[in-house]
Amino acid sequence: MNTIAPEDLGQEASSATLASRTLSGRIAIVTGSTSGIGLAVLEELAKAGAHVVMNGFGDAAEQAAAARRIAAMHDVDIPYHGADMSRPAEIADLVATTEARFGRVDILVNNAGIQHVAPIEAFPAEKWDAILAINLSSAFHATQQVLPGMKRRGFGRIINIASAHGLVGSPFKAAYVAAKHGVLGLTKVTALETAEQGITANAICPGYVWTPLVEKQITAQAIAHNIGRAEVIRNVLLAQQPNKQFAEASEIGALAVFLAGEAARSITGASLSVDGGWTAH
Ligand code: NAD
Repeated sequence: MNTIAPEDLGQEASSATLASRTLSGRIAIVTGSTSGIGLAVLEELAKAGAHVVMNGFGDAAEQAAAARRIAAMHDVDIPYHGADMSRPAEIADLVATTEARFGRVDILVNNAGIQHVAPIEAFPAEKWDAILAINLSSAFHATQQVLPGMKRRGFGRIINIASAHGLVGSPFKAAYVAAKHGVLGLTKVTALETAEQGITANAICPGYVWTPLVEKQITAQAIAHNIGRAEVIRNVLLAQQPNKQFAEASEIGALAVFLAGEAARSITGASLSVDGGWTAH
């Protein structure tokens, strides 16, 4: 019978930890990573060993505390950059600052996003413009900034957080659905333009994930339909989601880690659904 000495047990544990750090030393930017899906993606990338630039709005002290906690837990750097993703010059500065600090950007996760729910006739033009700018144009501007360095180094991973609404529509979400369909188009073009250069571009299409963005929609939909919270969750938000469960943000993070790794080098131009069967309809 083989016996394992206590010191070998320690060895096995540290090998397992190292084996799970598949992104060790990689440099990532996750836009909109102070909350929800972005924060979970940031945390999963950090767990896999990547240094990750945090971006997004919110309480500065809370963000700094979250960044410190994640950095210490996974022994990586988590600097913060406050670029407003609706402003191309600030996006350029986000990428330039990251390159100046770490020498490169290996992984870009375009995640920042907002929502507004209203029928088309009542949809405020400024909300349309803001949603298109933050949910779609920001991914173009950030991709444009990171590609030259990725091409020089022959490695890059661009992961666009789209939505089931990149594949299908829902009433009252004209700007969001248009923007997310646009993200899938941008993903395909990025993949085609970079396919021979060690770069992949893919979109993750979540169904409903429990985050502050969804919490706001529960309130808005309750008012729009004049019904209660439980009914909104089951019959409105999850009406099309066959498993009747919100996904966890960490599930999106786990897929992002896989797409960022070596094993996913042949996956490009794809949209990967994490939607409990929604788009199987
Ligand atoms: P969230 O509201 O929890 O987080 C959004 C993040 O984007 C925050 O960090 C916020 O500060 C940031 N942000 C907003 N405007 C910004 C700006 N102008 N500049 C920089 N950062 C900005 O939302 P979430 O649910 O985590 O959504 C994240 C992404 O996932 C979005 O693109 C959303 O469309 C997509 N998504 C979410 C769901 C869901 O069910 N939650 C489903 C499908 C897709």
